Amino acid sequence: MGKLWIGNGNVVLPDRILAGSSLLAEDRYITAIGVPCPPDAEPVDARGGYILPGFIDIHVHGGGRADFMDGTAESFRQIARAHCAHGTTALCPTTMTCPDPLLMQVIDCFWEAKSQPQDGAELLGLHLEGPFFSAASKGAQPVSEQRIPTEEVLNRILDHARGAILRWDAAPELPNMELFSRVMESRGVMASVAHTNATAEEAMQSYNWGFSHVTHFYNATSTFHKVNGIVHSGVIEATYLRDDVTIELIGDGRHIPKESMWLAYRIKGADGICLITDAMRAAGTDDTQSILGARDTGVPVVIKDEVAQLPDLSSYAGSIATMDRCLRTAHVKYGIPLVDVSKMLSLTPARLMGCGNRTGSLEPGKEADIVIMTADFLVDQVFVKGHRFDG
Ligand SMILES: [Zn+2]
Repeated sequence: MGKLWIGNGNVVLPDRILAGSSLLAEDRYITAIGVPCPPDAEPVDARGGYILPGFIDIHVHGGGRADFMDGTAESFRQIARAHCAHGTTALCPTTMTCPDPLLMQVIDCFWEAKSQPQDGAELLGLHLEGPFFSAASKGAQPVSEQRIPTEEVLNRILDHARGAILRWDAAPELPNMELFSRVMESRGVMASVAHTNATAEEAMQSYNWGFSHVTHFYNATSTFHKVNGIVHSGVIEATYLRDDVTIELIGDGRHIPKESMWLAYRIKGADGICLITDAMRAAGTDDTQSILGARDTGVPVVIKDEVAQLPDLSSYAGSIATMDRCLRTAHVKYGIPLVDVSKMLSLTPARLMGCGNRTGSLEPGKEADIVIMTADFLVDQVFVKGHRFDG
């Protein structure tokens, strides 16, 4: 692979931007920042644009007309390629609430796809969205498969996964959630609050048990509401009061309005927030009709106003965003500083998924996962582990 030198760009570091600077990579790794081009390196001109760490999407269901729930290794490859074209260099495939045999099949596909030569974004590990959800905040998740966790079911799935699962979502107000947190902790899996109608007291309890993250914060998460005539705060308030709990925000510019994103940013900071796509199959396409979930058994959805919705428009059903759009939403549209937006797209998700020591920022010694963007934040070139993605 040799040496790669990217110059004439604004290099976005975790704490500042180096204007008109450069980056040198050798084989798989970044070796220096701000050095002249060595005679034996391949020079790449960033043309006055931005040199950023590759984006890391920890919540994504599909893209490029494929969904991880299709249950084929080929769909994994298609999605990894579709998102890589938009700057994502690593992602966590997200599953939907589904019957166990399909979940097992998707887990097998993950390992099959991992064993093949890398093509597109790196597959970090699975994110299981469900099936332990509250019917009251189900969003687009099917109700029929929702249920209560038991030790037997959790262990069966975790054993089958052989370490493939990095995060598992659940609604903390359901029974057996202390058990759920204990099993997740013993397996090194992040327990995340999701699709929930919990009161603040229930959320706090779950954080004490070990839940440490909130899935698509603001979407299918409770705020103050009445229970038996008495007003309770919800997951949102409880999470704002807990510095040890991180959140993720859908950055498509549809799920979360500007003021809400700014509020989260003010309170949690860039170290406490991941920007995610939560993208479904239609991401990276111009389809107007699509399917959320498995191709055969999924829910029909329509794409309207640049977001997937249930056909009766009663609920959003995943975004069609890619991570470059999340950057443009948070930085260009909402005005959050680029250094922090970059961190929410790369370093914070890398840290939370346990790979922050090897990727997620442009620093010597880290893997050469790099996005070059134009001055108006369109993706120009993408490098994964020093390899140029061919689109
Ligand atoms: Zn999702």
